[in-house]
Amino acid sequence: QIEEWKKLKEVPTQSKDGVHVELGANIGTPNDVTGVLENGGEAVGLYRTEFLYMGRSELPSEDVQFNAYKTVLERMEGKPVVVRTLDIGGDKELPYLDLPKEMNPFLGFRAVRLCLERQDIFRTQLRALLRASVYGNLRIMFPMIATLDEFRQAKALLLDEKQKLTSEGVQVSDSIQLGIMVEIPSTAVLADQFAKEVDFFSIGTNDLIQYTMAADRMNERVSYLYQPYNPAILRLVKMVIDAAHQEGRWVGMCGEMAGDATAIPLLLGLGLDEFSMSATSILPARSQISRLSKAEMEQLAAKAMGMQTAQQVVELVRSIDE
Ligand code: PEP
Ligand code: MG
Repeated sequence: QIEEWKKLKEVPTQSKDGVHVELGANIGTPNDVTGVLENGGEAVGLYRTEFLYMGRSELPSEDVQFNAYKTVLERMEGKPVVVRTLDIGGDKELPYLDLPKEMNPFLGFRAVRLCLERQDIFRTQLRALLRASVYGNLRIMFPMIATLDEFRQAKALLLDEKQKLTSEGVQVSDSIQLGIMVEIPSTAVLADQFAKEVDFFSIGTNDLIQYTMAADRMNERVSYLYQPYNPAILRLVKMVIDAAHQEGRWVGMCGEMAGDATAIPLLLGLGLDEFSMSATSILPARSQISRLSKAEMEQLAAKAMGMQTAQQVVELVRSIDE
């Protein structure tokens, strides 16, 4: 098996019936790129930038950020790098911001909500990203988008900083794709409208499941409700993928579900274009996908969406012989 994985390191991911999907990795720091390359990652599908802000006593400067983004882009040598803008709040705190305690942090002032209010923080990050964009294939995505209006505001700030940099004579790439995380049910439901304005979606199932099932992802006592295979989740994922494809956009997934061997046949069948997971899951996933026919998985996914329970879906997936 290890020998097989080694061979798969250099080849693109392909299903048994010849359909290409992209396997990327989730990273938290520039050092993590080593693992992505060692495991044959075709992209960085999620660069969580929170770690740049955590474990220090003040906000990271524009230059500190620029260097981190540039390093990742250069080391990926032109392969896509999806950088997620700051997603702080929820379970991730920044002591130096001194934010008031909230009753429901996961439903509170976090991620893009905070960035749209604290524009100083957001603009600094956007400038660092724009300056780094000429060193590779940068894609930017905003987390926790709940409304079109939030996306438009965030995009306007990005364009404003781009304009400023250009007028200062700073080089900025003209081919940066701009996308959003789909991790709030309202956004999944209106995916057809978002698809007209974004370049891509990345489905964040860690949060999408918690918000759809109303079950805190950190709370053990309700963990039985944390159900990736619930047909409700599969139908939402399907809606997002179909809406994107209708407009010619691509869809990735960067939640834990994307690297889960039981979910992969379903996601392939639902039409997911890009899977982003921990680096060590990439080669096993590539091997699994090479043994699956996409056409057959489409049938499987259609069946799964008609089922009543997550357990039935799991049994259905286990019944296929790869
Ligand atoms: C997600 O919500 O699925 C996701 C990838 O983001 P995070 O786990 O960082 O909230
Ligand atoms: Mg999330």
